[in-house]
Amino acid sequence: MKNKIWLSSPHMGGTEQKFVQQAFDTNWVAPLGPNVDGFEEDIANYLRSKEHYVAALSSGTAALHLALILCGVEYGDEVICQSMTFSASANPIVYQGAKPIFVDSESTTWNICPESLEEAIKDRISKGKKPKAIIAVHLYGMPYQHDRIKEIAEKYEIPIIEDSAEALGSHYKNQMCGTLGDLSILSFNGNKIITTSGGGALVTPEKRLKDKAVFLSTQARDQAPHYQHSEIGYNYRMSNILAGIGRGQMEVLQDRVSKRREMNQFYVNLFTDFTEIVVMQQPNDDYFSNFWLTCVTINSDSSFDLREKMRLELEKENIESRPLWKPMHLQPVFKGAPFYGSSVSENLFESGLCLPSGSNLSKEDRERITSCIENILKEI
Ligand SMILES: *Cc1c(COP(=O)(O)O)cnc(C)c1O
Repeated sequence: MKNKIWLSSPHMGGTEQKFVQQAFDTNWVAPLGPNVDGFEEDIANYLRSKEHYVAALSSGTAALHLALILCGVEYGDEVICQSMTFSASANPIVYQGAKPIFVDSESTTWNICPESLEEAIKDRISKGKKPKAIIAVHLYGMPYQHDRIKEIAEKYEIPIIEDSAEALGSHYKNQMCGTLGDLSILSFNGNKIITTSGGGALVTPEKRLKDKAVFLSTQARDQAPHYQHSEIGYNYRMSNILAGIGRGQMEVLQDRVSKRREMNQFYVNLFTDFTEIVVMQQPNDDYFSNFWLTCVTINSDSSFDLREKMRLELEKENIESRPLWKPMHLQPVFKGAPFYGSSVSENLFESGLCLPSGSNLSKEDRERITSCIENILKEI
């Protein structure tokens, strides 16, 4: 069997082990230490904004959970969330005992639709409850339509939690993704554009909120010689070992963004002659995507499911591909949750496919992908 070609696999830069070794040499084998501080500083510098503060955490999911807590989300509250996303965007709403309100995507960015968002806010207010937060996601690295979403959020005075788990290195009108929300989150899971094996971060323009996130993520210990607690805490801080991997990865992040964008161009070239297969592209120059994953939509008639055929043929060649995120309002676990919009996200789910997009795909890997896809396309 040929080697597996993954959608997105870890790609080490080379200096990670040096930082990990330093942690061992100095015995900082704990959820705090110089690598944690250094990694936070590296991220803040990369986001090119002095006013942003970063708290390194155990996962992106943990960062979303803390973001909801910092927005004051409590039992019985409502939180708006983009329906088409990974379940980790929505699950923390339920951790808080709050209720997710799902909103459809727009077809240009595949992210939260401004019209449906405003409709949802108005309707929830008319039913007696103003949503406590809006979770907007940059799917596959493509920024959501930030200006419009922010305008609506400000009009109704609802904070935005920016889920930038897939979009480190992307930007919108030259503002880095990860700095667009009132609170923003990043993920360093193994499949993301850079990784600490598992990890995440909360980013905020307010130092007070960073400090509070660090406090909550380290079991909410009050100032006292003994263990004293006035609030419920969490064990969500990032380990100094993993932050060492993160410091090494930050050195190569820019290269990883370039490589992912090259993979996108590779697919644009591959599919130029096939009008039924459309590679997801930036709507205009306001948007810069890291193209964490390159995705296509496939317009086939009902008698022949070209999308599923492609997926299965690629699988036979040990090449991973996957349908787009199944919208949350269609997930069994969120059955009955309110949904605003039409069928944009559902249609994307029916017709879309994510293709191998890693920054570490070799020339040989690309040749295998090309020959497999060319064989499929010959038949149509
Ligand atoms: C990966 C991901 C998360 C969760 O991040 P973890 O670090 O895996 O917990 C959240 N939202 C989106 C959109 C993601 O892709």
